[in-house]
Amino acid sequence: MRILKGNPVSRGIALAKVYVYKAFKADVHESYFEAGQEAARYKQFTDALAVAEEELNTIVTSLSADSPEKAKIFTAHIEILNDEEVAEEVKDMITSSRAMPDYAVDFVFSEFAMLLEKAKDPLIAARAADLRDVRNRVLRILKGEKEQNLSSLREKVVVVAHDLLPSDTATLDRAHVMGIVTEVGGATSHTAIIARSYKIPAVLGVPSATEIMKNGEPVVLDALKGLVMLEPERETIHEYEAKLVQFLEDEKQTAEYLDRIPLVASGERFYVGLNIGTTEPDEGFKYVDFVGLFRTEFLYMESEHMPTEDEQFAAYRKMLANAMGNPVTLRTLDIGGDKTLRYMTLPKEENPFLGNRALRLCLDMPELFKTQLRAALRASAFGEMQIMFPMVGTIDDIRAGNAAVEEVKAELRAEGIPFDEKINVGIMIEIPSIAMIADLAAKETDFASVGTNDLTQYLHAVDRMNPKITNYYQSSSPAMFRILGRIFKEYNKAGKPVSVCGELAGEPLAAIVLYGLGLRKFSMNASNIAHVKRTLSLFTQDETEEIAEKVMMLETQEDVNNYLKAEVAKREQKAKSATVAKK
Ligand code: PEP
Ligand code: MG
Repeated sequence: MRILKGNPVSRGIALAKVYVYKAFKADVHESYFEAGQEAARYKQFTDALAVAEEELNTIVTSLSADSPEKAKIFTAHIEILNDEEVAEEVKDMITSSRAMPDYAVDFVFSEFAMLLEKAKDPLIAARAADLRDVRNRVLRILKGEKEQNLSSLREKVVVVAHDLLPSDTATLDRAHVMGIVTEVGGATSHTAIIARSYKIPAVLGVPSATEIMKNGEPVVLDALKGLVMLEPERETIHEYEAKLVQFLEDEKQTAEYLDRIPLVASGERFYVGLNIGTTEPDEGFKYVDFVGLFRTEFLYMESEHMPTEDEQFAAYRKMLANAMGNPVTLRTLDIGGDKTLRYMTLPKEENPFLGNRALRLCLDMPELFKTQLRAALRASAFGEMQIMFPMVGTIDDIRAGNAAVEEVKAELRAEGIPFDEKINVGIMIEIPSIAMIADLAAKETDFASVGTNDLTQYLHAVDRMNPKITNYYQSSSPAMFRILGRIFKEYNKAGKPVSVCGELAGEPLAAIVLYGLGLRKFSMNASNIAHVKRTLSLFTQDETEEIAEKVMMLETQEDVNNYLKAEVAKREQKAKSATVAKK
């Protein structure tokens, strides 16, 4: 047996077959064939088109029932395949200029894509990305390579990839993906967040995984310890089959806390929120008090074009209708950094995580920002909603964001379009510069939510995506708790609501400290709700405060975690003895 190691970022165990997922990279050169082969070469092209259409039809059929929106993307691809103008030009290049089919396809599709990209209408420009997608499909078929697609898999697999793009995870076939292994990505990368929200065990940051692991070979994934076991022996398989049963049993026991009212041991209430990234119904809505984070960028990433105001309005209304009465915090577009849109090319930056992203980008592209704000405000007439800006660094940012909201409100008023006049507008605190002036920020905002994923990245100056330095990415460091304590104190003092919607809120050990520091609103992925409710129910308010004070005086993250683990173990033991005594 061979064992690879990585970061366990989404708890669980999986036993399945390896599916190595490598996005196809076309390598085409200008080349021509000898006279006399015209008909045969042209047939290669038409045959490839036929295979492509067959592949796309299979995808559309498998997606239509559950994900009609995703199916539409692939239906549009079939239309491109059947575009007569494109096909005629390829035919001409092959039969008249004797260009090799792959060169002809690459040339013609790329030319058309470039033309479309120049179009003023963003809907037309967006088709360029689809043309390139179809071009790659046809080129792959011409090269004789098999299709790789995570949206319709035939058997249960552990997906192994260099990294998964948000567009890959958005269309992931959840019934067949039992586990995820990637070469890059840390605990707060988007792959990790999606894996947790889908409850798929994941181990990220496994160097050379796509080279070492072979398609179809059996693998045992221990995403509790971060182990990837290849060529597992029979005993290992039995051992892990038993561990899987135990894991599911533990999960079931914790799940009993799911629908309990969140209370600490001394009876005080805290509030649990849900983080969502789609507009679909979610089991989690039943067990929470609010939606602390609706990541709207997923809407933009799944779409084949920049979503229009009406499309966004419909999506936000649908989300509110599905949210079972929970008030929803809609976060405005947070792209840039590792999140890109296939239909919008952003200039390359030296340091994209420090670059023109999120609110900065929205302020830079007022039309894009206003379109989203109009859609959000219009939807606010149909349910309880608040608006939140990501990546706020200064009071200027807050003022610019608020001004945009006011401008859009005035427009809607003038047009007689209803919206919630009293809508709350707040910020994410995820840049240390705004955390340090939380008292001033509180004056200019209706609420704040702390994004601990980015706050850790910027406070510790450590790239959240880089697997080489995950030990430097310390979201439970004493430094983090000191800065968090400061934010909660200032917002509580100002009487303005404050929550945490970063991954830290869903970590049971950290939640004890956050509560002790004054936090009462914890927003998390559905898979963490029961764990946090269970752990906090073990501690009285006074105990959490004592613990928080102690934690801020500890020296290292390891000290913090060891101390918190010991405190939980003590109480679990006490609770167990009490149950035995009762019996
Ligand atoms: C965060 O940074 O903590 C956060 C919630 O936002 P995201 O993970 O989407 O950057
Ligand atoms: Mg963030």
